[in-house]
Amino acid sequence: MSGEGKLKVVINKPACCGYGVCAEICPEVYLLDENGIVYVDNEIVPEGLEDSAREGADACPQNVIKLVAA
Ligand code: SF4
Repeated sequence: MSGEGKLKVVINKPACCGYGVCAEICPEVYLLDENGIVYVDNEIVPEGLEDSAREGADACPQNVIKLVAA
């Protein structure tokens, strides 16, 4: 479907300050722990969620989330 190849989520956890914007935009990929800090269950973005994952990463005010080629 996507010609882009798989994307991997790289999180700079110490920089996350828990705004939760990423999880609001793409809750399928970005999860928040009990302190509101972002984590992922699976660092590979599931097919079809690439755009949403990118939007969530771009919306992070702290630039915590990078998406790289898997
Ligand atoms: S938007 Fe950025 S700072 Fe906010 S929870 Fe997500 S990763 Fe953390």
